[in-house]
Amino acid sequence: MIPFVDLKAQYTGIKDEVNAAILNVLETCQFTLGTEVAAFEDEFASYCQAQYGIGVNTGTSALHLALLAAGIGANDEVITVPFTFVATVAAIYYTGAKPVFVDIDPRTFTIDVKAIESAITDKTKAIIPVHLYGQPADMDPILEIAKRHGLVVIEDAAQAHGAEYKGRRVGSIGDMGCFSFYPGKNLGAYGEGGMVVTNNAEYTRTIRMLRDWGAEQKYQHVLKGYNYRLEGIQGAVLRVKLRHLDAWTEARRTVAASYNELLADSDVQTPEAMPYSRHVYHIYAIRTQQRSEWQQALQAKGIQTGIHYPIPVHLLSAYADLGYTQGDFPHSEQAADEVLSLPMFPELSREQCEEVSEAVMILANQQFVELI
Ligand SMILES: *Cc1c(COP(=O)(O)O)cnc(C)c1O
Repeated sequence: MIPFVDLKAQYTGIKDEVNAAILNVLETCQFTLGTEVAAFEDEFASYCQAQYGIGVNTGTSALHLALLAAGIGANDEVITVPFTFVATVAAIYYTGAKPVFVDIDPRTFTIDVKAIESAITDKTKAIIPVHLYGQPADMDPILEIAKRHGLVVIEDAAQAHGAEYKGRRVGSIGDMGCFSFYPGKNLGAYGEGGMVVTNNAEYTRTIRMLRDWGAEQKYQHVLKGYNYRLEGIQGAVLRVKLRHLDAWTEARRTVAASYNELLADSDVQTPEAMPYSRHVYHIYAIRTQQRSEWQQALQAKGIQTGIHYPIPVHLLSAYADLGYTQGDFPHSEQAADEVLSLPMFPELSREQCEEVSEAVMILANQQFVELI
């Protein structure tokens, strides 16, 4: 069986280091925030080439607090894509602001920069580009548009730890960058976690207060805050894992290169990495119009796949109140119908890549024969 992800394989490789780090937190009893979290904030911020890092309990909370720090609330509009994980949009709702969608560029699965300006109104306050699957959105045009219209840029980098745009690490390119440390992400906690990184001291101050009940000092609540603190055990685990992240990213890129090479002589539509990006392959998604047949056939051969994501957010029943309908964002809708994520994790072997690619190519050839 080839799993879609294998968290156990990764743990096996770092077991002694991680166990020692967790035991140390148990000894020091710094269960929430504390020195391990503070050290991880510094280390991860500098990994992202940013000055400040604020650890929070989830990636969703990171987005929520970044939006609040930017002063976004009721009557404001925030531009993002409908082809993303639902959390991007939920975080906008939490602030009382309205999400306004812009379609994706079908080659990259990230925001179509040519479509942004027509979505801007006098209520627009921010843009959230999503670095989906680990590939950075085309940031330069986004920053230029944001500057011209006075908008804040918040990167949703939940799938893109260590990805680079024109040589710069994501997260520190816009005004703020939001990361998730959900276990399955490229850098995953043993539980939940998230972080905002930024070069802005004022945003940092506000987010530090908001994550811990809006308190300036204990019991001095100057803002209406939240309980969004990052746990000590997660900080300690993430510090250990950060030391391995570059090696794991290289391994993901090797897996992607193997798939690209093995599928090159077929009609299979493989993901495209733009010349401006260093893609970190959180997800390796191919496209097919026979997706459910392919997924079933691969499952029958013991190959697990995923779909990220089958319904674009504008067509989810929870967000029907936004008033969008089928046909509004054709590239997002087509991607949602066609994408199929192949097994992708750092420990995936060359032999396993060959097995997956062979099975995919048989399906592609069958489809070709049926067509003629
Ligand atoms: C995972 C994810 C989030 C949310 O992160 P959580 O830690 O699960 O709250 C937000 N945006 C995207 C694109 C994600 O993949």
